[in-house]
Amino acid sequence: MFATLSDRLADTFKNLRGKGRLSEADIDATAREIRIALLEADVALPVVKEFVAAVKERARGEDVSQALNPAQQIVKIVDEELVAILGGETRRLRFAKTPPTVIMLAGLQGAGKTTLAAKLALWLKGEGHSPMLVAADLQRPNAVNQLQVNGERAGVTVWAPEPGNAQGVEHGGDPVAVARGGVEEAKRTLHDVVIVDTAGRLGIDAELMQQAADIRDAVQPDEVLFVVDAMIGQDAVTTAQAFLDGVGYDGVVLTKLDGDARGGAALSIRSMTGKPVMFASNGEQLTDFDVFHPDRMASRILD
Ligand code: GDP
Repeated sequence: MFATLSDRLADTFKNLRGKGRLSEADIDATAREIRIALLEADVALPVVKEFVAAVKERARGEDVSQALNPAQQIVKIVDEELVAILGGETRRLRFAKTPPTVIMLAGLQGAGKTTLAAKLALWLKGEGHSPMLVAADLQRPNAVNQLQVNGERAGVTVWAPEPGNAQGVEHGGDPVAVARGGVEEAKRTLHDVVIVDTAGRLGIDAELMQQAADIRDAVQPDEVLFVVDAMIGQDAVTTAQAFLDGVGYDGVVLTKLDGDARGGAALSIRSMTGKPVMFASNGEQLTDFDVFHPDRMASRILD
């Protein structure tokens, strides 16, 4: 991800090397190139406009007596503006004062939610927590089983509807009851974090939103995380906005950052939704997961 954007920006900065001072024309040309680079990376237009305007304004106002040469100054400005659109500070998970902390996952089918649930649980375990996974995705035939398999791999307890019990399984089961039951079970068994996996659909629909909203109302999560596949480009922003309206969430998890998408989703989502990216998933292994650090992501782009 970001390979083309990185190359494009590197070329732009190369053109500035050796210049003693940046003329108005230099700044305009640089701004134009940055604009094209971001648009080609699939960054949403309003974000591109704001980004370029900020870079231009700061480049004009930069104190030329600084120790940095003009090319270095532009790199520094672009770096800082990238960190800003990626959210600035890392937004960490907020834990409930009284355990268990309830984390609900929402997103489209295929976003990587079920995988992410196990990754997050494994990470939390490493942080000294005792997480429990709750399989409230009763829509996709194999989702409960997949969460159980991943949970086992992560060494984490999974609360799932048993075949034949009152909650039912798979189609026809009541995901709200499963989610509520899971949180109760976590309280009883002293798990301090509960991760509730919810159903996704292939596209956004009212029923999906309602089900997620019902689960949210039932379990009153401390954090709702919207999980989105960074490979889907501009659609990520559209989906993010639909979930914001339909369910609401506190933070975003970007998945499949190991893919070769152009990176626009990662760069647009914070500005377009106002919600911070909190975690990133970058592979199929359970350990391919980390807290999202805006500054490290910006450095990666400018490497
Ligand atoms: P869900 O429908 O949202 O629960 O999605 P899944 O967790 O089943 O993931 C869908 C597919 O994406 C699976 O094949 C996962 O192995 C794969 N996947 C999930 N996260 C990542 C990731 O970060 N990188 C890559 N390359 N694949 C991923």
